[in-house]
Amino acid sequence: MITNIPRKDAIELIGNTPLVLLQAASEAAGCEIYGKCEFANPGASVKDRAALGIIRDAEASGELTPGGTIVEGTAGNTGIGIALVANALGYKTMIVMPDNQSKEKMDTLRALGAELVLVPPTKFSDCNHFVHTSRRLADETVGAIWANQFDNTANRKVHIETTAAEIWDQLEGRVDGFTCAAGTGGTIAGVGLGLKERDENVQIALTDPHGAALYSYYAEGELKSEGTSVAEGIGQGRITGNLEGAPIDTQFRISDEEGLQWVERLLREEGMCLGLSSGINVAGAVALGKQLVANGREDARVVTILCDTGFRYLSTLYNAEWLASKGLPVFGWLER
Ligand code: PMP
Repeated sequence: MITNIPRKDAIELIGNTPLVLLQAASEAAGCEIYGKCEFANPGASVKDRAALGIIRDAEASGELTPGGTIVEGTAGNTGIGIALVANALGYKTMIVMPDNQSKEKMDTLRALGAELVLVPPTKFSDCNHFVHTSRRLADETVGAIWANQFDNTANRKVHIETTAAEIWDQLEGRVDGFTCAAGTGGTIAGVGLGLKERDENVQIALTDPHGAALYSYYAEGELKSEGTSVAEGIGQGRITGNLEGAPIDTQFRISDEEGLQWVERLLREEGMCLGLSSGINVAGAVALGKQLVANGREDARVVTILCDTGFRYLSTLYNAEWLASKGLPVFGWLER
């Protein structure tokens, strides 16, 4: 439960995030759209939960022992979450990432104390791909575990136990729809399963960016991608361990342009600076809300995830030159 009681340590700052009624999105949908403020976690993203869930699970199984090392192949929010949780619990962090990732990400991970291993970018089928390299390094390092966020279902379990339970409590047991995009799929599958446990009528929708294969999988049963996206952290091409059995009722495909419009409105009209996956999620929530309203549910309540802070994307999403170089619309105030 959300509480003002002092937390006993920084680990307890993870989760119990606020839920906010999104004004412009609610108006656009004709029903209530809520955002779960995952950017309010200590690592400023939804991935702090997965990091903590995976680490706690490895401790409970006895695989992770005091002073051990957590190894993961990730360039982004998961690495940041792991590094913070590992520091708080006395573990070491080793992150393997392709050397074409942004300097900010490398600097952030180094600043948090993670050991960075840079590898050349390559295809997933190549044994030197950063994910395979991270698994190998975990095998070769004494006292290390491989976090394996894509297929390790401790990831979605933490969303069943915390994110879904919090949303249910925060809306006092009346939720009609939930939607978000998938990276590992831990959030959509975990929140979906957790909400369905409480009320099987809650509509769970996958919101997919272009370039990902899940929209066509849930719509037509075939993994097939179309177009591209610059959104980070989302867009999946396979059914990960975390996505297996996810209770998806319906699906939406959202373009970067549409997601960016919501990033712009959330900042300009509501004062929240967010990343593109949040904008894409809000676009999906508006689509789901409209669908529920069209089915006679003017009182519908839809929830989505505000995944991470926009401060992580100052040189990309919030940079006029970068946006223009990608052929994307530039926020008006950046051109002044
Ligand atoms: N948005 C961002 C910015 C992320 O980093 C991630 C994590 N990959 C997601 C959304 C998707 O979360 P999940 O891995 O739980 O599907």
